[in-house]
Amino acid sequence: MTDKQDPRPRAWDVPPGRDGRMVVELDFDGVIHDYTMGWKSPRHIDGPPVQGALDALIRYTQHFDVAIVSARSAYFLARRAMRRWLRGHLVRLRGEAKAAEVLSRIRFPRFKQGGHFGLDDRVQQFKGGFPHIKQITDFEPWQARRR
Ligand SMILES: [Mg+2]
Repeated sequence: MTDKQDPRPRAWDVPPGRDGRMVVELDFDGVIHDYTMGWKSPRHIDGPPVQGALDALIRYTQHFDVAIVSARSAYFLARRAMRRWLRGHLVRLRGEAKAAEVLSRIRFPRFKQGGHFGLDDRVQQFKGGFPHIKQITDFEPWQARRR
């Protein structure tokens, strides 16, 4: 019996998202939003998009249930600010109609829900082994390496 025919759920399976699609959860700061301006408040978003982020979002929304979630997400005004910021950049890149279409397929949940796949600039994939203290204290996000 192949995996495909086995009806039993596997413990590591994640429930499907909207329209039965895989859930792709993206961190905002450092993944979508270039974080070069530093932190001011949950609803201040001053940086440009990370290079390639908008194109990736456009592609991902054609295949996946895309959720953008951040430490900001607990605040309603911040969720609105992320959506507005993204809308502005999508309109500039692809026009009003495409921006609306893409945005209609992006969720801004209040809390991290866990998905089939996640992108975050501050995490390491857990493979069953815990990092040493120095691996944690020496950790640098990708932005640190381009300076
Ligand atoms: Mg981040």
